[in-house]
Amino acid sequence: MQVCSTGDIHSDEEADQEVKGNHDISLDAAYELKHAEGWRVQASDTELCRKLLMENKSFTYLENSSALIEIPDKNVSLRVFGSPYSPDRGRQNWAFQYPEERAEDIWSAIPDDTDVLVTHTPPAGHCDTSSHWLEGGCPGLLATLESVKPLLHVCGHCHEGRGAEILRWGEHPGTVASVRKWEDPGAGNKKQSLLDLTGSRAGETPLEAGKEMAVVNASMVARSFGRGGMAFNKPIVVDLVVPVLRHKEAECPEPGLSV
Ligand SMILES: [Zn+2]
Repeated sequence: MQVCSTGDIHSDEEADQEVKGNHDISLDAAYELKHAEGWRVQASDTELCRKLLMENKSFTYLENSSALIEIPDKNVSLRVFGSPYSPDRGRQNWAFQYPEERAEDIWSAIPDDTDVLVTHTPPAGHCDTSSHWLEGGCPGLLATLESVKPLLHVCGHCHEGRGAEILRWGEHPGTVASVRKWEDPGAGNKKQSLLDLTGSRAGETPLEAGKEMAVVNASMVARSFGRGGMAFNKPIVVDLVVPVLRHKEAECPEPGLSV
């Protein structure tokens, strides 16, 4: 399975699951209506662009929606939710942006049984450092994550926030008890940027499903636009134990496949 988010890089990646972002103005059906006045980038034929994406049988396009991936021969079931949205901080007219008071409406679409969440914006306070979006990630998204408790949340958008954190949920609803920061083993060398959440390697701690969640900001572009020359990050490889089929019905799910 490949999940690809192309919002800030303007490339034509090949993937099985696609999630867009705030630079994909030609895919936002509301863009021309929202930004009829003032500064804006000229969108292409939005209807045609959306049709091309949605009718492509080689991948599933996720726009604040989810897909259930079942691999019976591996006994694996995984729900992936994808969203191109990020908070509108009132500086520029970009695509798929919402005023923060609408955050609850946007994120209420995340199903309770989501295992892997891919959103353009990070949650507030976690992997959301940015020289451009100084306000960081979305507080409403963090509140939703605390109730859904997915295994993994992959995001981007705040380029200087690239990295990973493992959040342990608090005993009281809406609280984070502790945060473990990931140290990139591939920083400044030729090693892979691996985040091992399986605990299968010496010195690594496994992710405790339901009690912990990994946030991974996988921004490939290392700096915000206009903050120095182009620089790129390595991709982050996440090693994760994924749930077995119908895991939500089982009281004590067995470990599934490591991907
Ligand atoms: Zn962005």
